[in-house]
Amino acid sequence: MLYEYDQMRPLLRNELIAVGYMYSGRWRHIADVYAEQGMLPADFPLTDFLYDPERLHIPPWVYWWGGGFLLLMLVTGAVAVYILRINRRLSLEMDRRRQTEWSFKASQQHYQLIYETAPLALILFDRDHRIIDWNRAAERIFGWPRIEMLGVGLERFVPMTDLDYVVKVMEQAWAGGIVAGVNRNLTRDGRTILCRWSNVAQRDGHGDPIAVLSLAEDITEVERTREDLEAANQALRTQIRQIESLQEDLREQARRDPLTGLYNRRYLELVLERELAQGRDQPLSLIMIDIDRFKEVNDTLGHQAGDQVLTALAQILTATTRANDIACRFGGEEFTVVLPGADLQSGCAHAESWRKAFAELLIQTDAGEVRSTLSAGVAAWPVHAAERGGLLGAADRALYVAKEAGRNRTVVAGG
Ligand code: GH3
Ligand code: MG
Ligand code: MG
Repeated sequence: MLYEYDQMRPLLRNELIAVGYMYSGRWRHIADVYAEQGMLPADFPLTDFLYDPERLHIPPWVYWWGGGFLLLMLVTGAVAVYILRINRRLSLEMDRRRQTEWSFKASQQHYQLIYETAPLALILFDRDHRIIDWNRAAERIFGWPRIEMLGVGLERFVPMTDLDYVVKVMEQAWAGGIVAGVNRNLTRDGRTILCRWSNVAQRDGHGDPIAVLSLAEDITEVERTREDLEAANQALRTQIRQIESLQEDLREQARRDPLTGLYNRRYLELVLERELAQGRDQPLSLIMIDIDRFKEVNDTLGHQAGDQVLTALAQILTATTRANDIACRFGGEEFTVVLPGADLQSGCAHAESWRKAFAELLIQTDAGEVRSTLSAGVAAWPVHAAERGGLLGAADRALYVAKEAGRNRTVVAGG
């Protein structure tokens, strides 16, 4: 050993490199030399050969166990998460069921509440139109208690007269949709009432009808009130018509002279104004008439006989004028006739015919028979007045001339 020691020392050259010094490059070189000699494979890794304090040296079994443990943990975790999720879903589902159950119960209660407290009669009918439910309002409206009506048919509370109609409506409801109707119904105490019905089929999960729910409202009073109102309206309309007719009478009276029934002066002026405003293209004659020495009739036979003479002349005028003509008592024993469409010649002819007819008439009065005459002044548009308003004055002046000339004559204006 000492010999070996002596031989090794100079080779170690520990004055240059301290004993125990490690250098990875050196080992690499040694490995490469070994590789060149075929004693090691090329690029032999030195990682596990050289100690590296930085590197953890964990035995492989630790990895195996660790990996296995980790995998186990992962699988366990996944299973736990899965169970947790299923649990959560289950509890949600349970909540949802509870909620559904609760709302189903609530809606059932609502329905029951509505069914029992509704002011409308709610009745369920089966396929043969027999009653399978009958609420309180139905009891109140029709009088029969529910227990008495279960299984009963329509005939019990639908009069024979309306039965066909009601069956038809029910059949329509079975076919689908909301079917409304109004018909008479019977009550337990023997009254006949009027009801408004609304019928709709109830359906099962497949949509097939299983019953018909009918809602009924007693509209007897409403209908009666409506009829009363209608009658009152009718009466009111009749009254309005009467009032309108009275008003028309009054208007007519306001236009008429009460003694002769001819139009009065006020109306003549109104009509003249209207006539003058329109119909400019057609001629128009105006005749003023005054009974001759009328005062004498009054004085000799009395005022009443005078009135009868006035009436006699009015009758001639009424009988010989057309609907469009306006015969009017201008005042006292003066009359005015407006003949729309009549030219001067036609106006004169009219005046002359009246003069003659009046002169020939033997007037019967309460005080005896009397004859009278009249004077007339005729004016026509457009001959005697550029403005039609001037006609009245022109005719009046002509009448004056007729009087002056000796009465019982017709004088044309301006002549
Ligand atoms: P003249 O030929 O000039 O027209 O003479 P007259 O007597 O007819 O004329 P006057 O104007 O002097 O007389 C008209 C009379 O008519 C006067 C009045 O007593 C009368 N009189 C007016 N209105 C009425 C009436 O409504 N009834 C009656 N009976 N007489 C009336
Ligand atoms: Mg006079
Ligand atoms: Mg006179």
